[in-house]
Amino acid sequence: MANAHFPHLLEPLDLGFTTLRNRVMMGSMHTGLEDRFYNYGKLAAYFRERARGGVGLIVTGGISPNRQGWLLPFGGTMNFFGDVFNHRKVTKAVHEEDGKIVMQILHAGRYGYQPFIVSASDKQAPISKFKPKALDEAGIEKTIKAYVRCAKLAQQSGYDGVEIMGSEGYLLNQFLCVRTNHRTDRWGGSIENRMRLPVEIVKRVRAAVGEKFIIMYRHSILDLVEGGNSWDEVVAVAQALEKAGVTLFNTGIGWHEARVPTIVTSVPRAAFASVSGRLKQAVSIPVIASNRINMPAQAEDIIASGTADMVSMARPFLADPEFVNKAATGRVDEINTCIACNQACLDHTFSNQRASCLVNPRAAHETELVYTKKPIAKRIAVVGAGPAGLSAATVAASCGHDVSLFDSSDSIGGQFKIAMQIPGKEEFKETLRYFAKRVEMTGVKLHLNRRVTREELVAQGFDHIIIATGITPRKPRIEGVDHPKVMSYLDVLLHKKPVGKKVAIIGAGGIGFDVAEYLLHDFATPLPIPLSKWLGEWGIDLQAKQNGGLVAPHVDAPIRDIYLLQRKASKVGAGLGKTSGWVHRATLQRNQVKMMAAVEYKKIDDQGLHISVAGQDQVLDVDHVILCAGQESLTELMPTQVSETGPKFHKIGGAALASELDAKRAIKEGAELAASL
Ligand code: FAD
Ligand code: NAP
Ligand code: SF4
Repeated sequence: MANAHFPHLLEPLDLGFTTLRNRVMMGSMHTGLEDRFYNYGKLAAYFRERARGGVGLIVTGGISPNRQGWLLPFGGTMNFFGDVFNHRKVTKAVHEEDGKIVMQILHAGRYGYQPFIVSASDKQAPISKFKPKALDEAGIEKTIKAYVRCAKLAQQSGYDGVEIMGSEGYLLNQFLCVRTNHRTDRWGGSIENRMRLPVEIVKRVRAAVGEKFIIMYRHSILDLVEGGNSWDEVVAVAQALEKAGVTLFNTGIGWHEARVPTIVTSVPRAAFASVSGRLKQAVSIPVIASNRINMPAQAEDIIASGTADMVSMARPFLADPEFVNKAATGRVDEINTCIACNQACLDHTFSNQRASCLVNPRAAHETELVYTKKPIAKRIAVVGAGPAGLSAATVAASCGHDVSLFDSSDSIGGQFKIAMQIPGKEEFKETLRYFAKRVEMTGVKLHLNRRVTREELVAQGFDHIIIATGITPRKPRIEGVDHPKVMSYLDVLLHKKPVGKKVAIIGAGGIGFDVAEYLLHDFATPLPIPLSKWLGEWGIDLQAKQNGGLVAPHVDAPIRDIYLLQRKASKVGAGLGKTSGWVHRATLQRNQVKMMAAVEYKKIDDQGLHISVAGQDQVLDVDHVILCAGQESLTELMPTQVSETGPKFHKIGGAALASELDAKRAIKEGAELAASL
């Protein structure tokens, strides 16, 4: 019987020889656990939770078929029988929960960050410091054999199939596009020659694994780089791959080196689904839509409208392993939504750390961060309902403690309420919707408009008092800092005070960048910005007539003159997230924001902001100077002396440490402390 809430999304998908229980796929994500054999127990626990949560099909992180294909030195590889034993832990766990799982075969080609890399040609990638060797005829044959061996070993490991990674600019994509394929032999030149390698791999894998094994191919349907394929080429490749034996197509958008955002939070939801829809018209096997799909209603629309047969969501399953079961039982308001911040997943992967999730610190740490019912319920006070306090309060209450949460404001959220005012950060409100629901469900006693004192807390006889009062903005010592031209970021974002046309921002951290972005909007167009406007700004042609879908961007004149300043001599914005910082920098550059480093602040007066850069004095003639100069912890509620009797005090989030604070640390600290009480 069709599901009452999401009838199309939760309908099974019959692949002929096997049936998927619904149309939701957890897309491939590298967690770091797959790279070390001793982590496969943790990896199995991670996938088990997601399979138990109801997802129809899971794709593992990328596993290389040989050493040349490693993304990082000693990355997860499947090239000898011994590997099978580790992977069986994963497949067993998923099958015990009635799930299905395919292993992704990922050959990084020139994207590998290691010295053995190979590609179609010897052209170096802008994102790796290593130069690839062009594969010769014998090397190509060896590579095909490695894919076949890898797929057969995956089958022996109990996987339901493999996903052959052909998108995001990895090896097979490098053969497909003239950007990276400069060959003149039978593997280069015409599109028939350029597609020879992926087609040959699929044919030979199919011959080796038989008919009853899923071969999913992740096809790059919009390369978003110069020298990327046209739509006609994308279709020709897909049709040849279908003939070669592919069971279903997953879709990929944009190479990793593309200078167009494809998954960060400012990308409109489901921005690229229509391109998957066009592929579906051109082939006769199922097609999966992907990228920035994070809630069931959108996913349902994609299936119900016939745009795609399945929907791939990757990061949403880090945020909430129970996504599908919650959707199936009409509990959408309980979903912990992925806000597409990349802070704990992709930013970790790109800095060689284990992936996790900002809104769910248990992700990929299932066996280490465990929320269990405690034998003795304690009375706990949490002061501050920002991300740190919300996390601590709801985890503590879910463990059976009696929790009271106090906030001086009239609503929960702390600084996250301010963050979600920034254009492109609209998703942040989902986290507060989730926490509001958790507060209600876990029985946390919420006291808003309550500024508590230490004496009051102590008098109430709590066992533990958790101080999560956050921060206060720093007021730098600059002559004239009290001049009427000077505003704090709270004046702008929270109190909505009018801001002039010429502005200097002191401090180029995350908040300085956000304030600059906020001031580039006139708010005449309601947020989030419409898809057509966003596509125009980034120069994306979803029809992909040429150049992998790139066209000249449409740039309006900026509505303000903005200076973004810092004292450090380093590149402005160097401290922003690895996978999202470049998007912020590109947006400000396109809007002619003047980013200045190594600035010395002299004074602020009627003329504007007086600065000196490299010994040269200058005056920035601005209407307003906005302070985004970092923050200081609010710790007035902490006792000055440690007492052996009475409640135990703890500090978390901004109250514990204001520097290098972000919501990732705040939520993680809250959860870890609460789980330990
Ligand atoms: P806070 O969020 O500051 O919460 C503290 C709470 O305590 C507040 O609700 C306050 O009302 C309450 N309180 C204070 N004193 C008392 C008292 N005496 N009694 C009762 N209640 C009290 N982080 C990211 O990770 N990613 C981002 O993209 C991001 N963007 C941001 C954009 C902006 C514009 C801003 C301002 C912040 C952004 N942040 C971002 C930072 C993030 O919001 C903070 O790191 C996070 O909110 C800190 O959480 P916290 O719970 O420690 O403190
Ligand atoms: P921040 O990132 O620490 O930046 C503070 C800025 O102020 C720096 O540019 C610093 O640069 C400057 N500064 C510090 N002391 C100063 C002083 N005395 N006088 C003048 N300038 C001074 O802090 P933030 O921007 O306030 O952000 C707070 C936290 O929120 C950040 O740690 C960040 O992680 C998080 N956040 C994240 C995002 C995101 O997109 N991921 C967005 C917003 C906020 P100089 O010292 O070089 O001048
Ligand atoms: Fe989504 Fe951010 Fe969690 Fe990554 S860290 S899964 S982007 S919410």
